[in-house]
Amino acid sequence: MSEKTNRSACRICGNDTDNRSYILKEMMFGLQEEFAYSECSKCECLQIVDIPRDLTKYYPASYYSFADPSERPSSGLRALMARSRNRHYLAKRNFLGRILDTWRPNTTMRLIGLANLTPASRILDVGCGAGAILTDMKEAGFDNVVGIDPFLQCDTRTSNGVSLRKISLRGMDGIWDLIMFHHSFEHMPDPAEQLAAASSLLAPEGVCLVRIPTVTSYAWQFYRTHWSQLDPPRHCFLHSKRSLLLAAARAGLHCERAIYDSTAFQFWGSELVARGIPLVNDMSHFKDPRKSIFTSSEIDAFEKRAAELNKANLGDQAAYFLRKADRTKHATGEEGGVQPC
Ligand SMILES: [Zn+2]
Repeated sequence: MSEKTNRSACRICGNDTDNRSYILKEMMFGLQEEFAYSECSKCECLQIVDIPRDLTKYYPASYYSFADPSERPSSGLRALMARSRNRHYLAKRNFLGRILDTWRPNTTMRLIGLANLTPASRILDVGCGAGAILTDMKEAGFDNVVGIDPFLQCDTRTSNGVSLRKISLRGMDGIWDLIMFHHSFEHMPDPAEQLAAASSLLAPEGVCLVRIPTVTSYAWQFYRTHWSQLDPPRHCFLHSKRSLLLAAARAGLHCERAIYDSTAFQFWGSELVARGIPLVNDMSHFKDPRKSIFTSSEIDAFEKRAAELNKANLGDQAAYFLRKADRTKHATGEEGGVQPC
């Protein structure tokens, strides 16, 4: 591990003094290819030094976000329960959904539900992959949903008719009530431009939801180059809270609230990387929990520790709710893991 300093200018704040250098290895597929990263001494953003000219080769067809959502059961008891739970989060509270929220929660839908949507809301998912989230939202009664992803093979539709377009946010038009990045923002080589585009396309009362891993976390401090969410070279920028809010402010966006939603992955994934085991290896909990090198009680302990870190605002990923700066109403008095920015 190299930790010398460098003079690379931070692409978020411009600082070029005392930035720390790291060499990180690709460990999702175990390619072991090395990439230089720089950690800004001022805004703390960790960023890749040279963005590979062709990032597409690091997104094979087996990449998880391209899994076809139509292969999930669309009928039967499990599908019915999922629909009830998602409607509970997004539109209409219901008794079954409340029970399922406790028993088998869906963090993504719960977070989206905090954007105060109506079935008429115009929703854009940036970096939508195969459209799994929008498929579920359409099932829950939302018709004005569109996904965009420059890594799609071509424009397409999900099995229930959601339009997915091979286009970047900067090429989009229209006005949207919710523009969301679910773990796609960190993959983008131009975060400032992405936020500026989101700001220009957002309705006056709209929400831009950015879910990302963050270096303002225990996992980065403890695991450093073995932290499982580094994911070089796919993750071009690993923001600190400070750098994300700075980039948002420059785009005319203000952070209304941040919710930490880290999971056991920060522990079992980082432990695998530290042992030199790729995250998609057969022994990975990600691939098959039954073949995992960790016992179910160890995974439970990791989940418990993740919940504690979220409460302390030190989990390794967070959801930032951004609004146009002049429309912001600060959040107050939330449950653990939630803070006004
Ligand atoms: Zn910086």
